[in-house]
Amino acid sequence: MIIGITGTPGTGKTSACALLGGVLDLNELIREEGLYSGVDDERGSLIADMDVVYDRICEIAQGRDGDLVIEGHLSHHVCDLAIVLRLSPDKLGERLRKRGYSGAKISENVEAEAVDVILVEAVEWCDRVYEIDTTGRTVEEVADTIREILDAINRGIGIDGYEPGSVDWSEHFI
Ligand code: ADP
Ligand code: MN
Repeated sequence: MIIGITGTPGTGKTSACALLGGVLDLNELIREEGLYSGVDDERGSLIADMDVVYDRICEIAQGRDGDLVIEGHLSHHVCDLAIVLRLSPDKLGERLRKRGYSGAKISENVEAEAVDVILVEAVEWCDRVYEIDTTGRTVEEVADTIREILDAINRGIGIDGYEPGSVDWSEHFI
């Protein structure tokens, strides 16, 4: 099975997964293996060729004994099970500002987070979806929660509190 840790850029995927270890960075794979079809000049980002990415991820997964865990904001397009990291839009905006993102890129991501874009896509694409509200949690706490969910998946047992729809930012806009 392919497990994807996904979420809007800035929600802390790479930081948390660095603590987990053994997680494949999808953006790095796309960059290093040239799995893109072009460059988005406006956004300054690569346009991933998701068909090629999917084939490559399946190939990597086949060579493994257990599950393959990947992370990146595109991972829900190529995984069976997604864990979506969420962060309150105002905190996300602060983080992306610190990261030096342009105003347009900050707004685009903050708005996407506010209206659950990645969660909705994950529900559409994946067999199973969990979501974690990372707001006010340290990187260690987020990594522990991901570990807890991965452990439940591995043991084939249920885990409560992370169902899709459990995070809701709509009250932020009243
Ligand atoms: P992503 O991979 O989802 O884009 P990163 O892991 O690169 O996000 O984190 C984006 C920024 O937020 C980094 O500067 C990182 O240090 C910070 N960060 C990540 N997780 C947390 C957290 N739980 N609490 C505070 N800051 C965090
Ligand atoms: Mn990242």
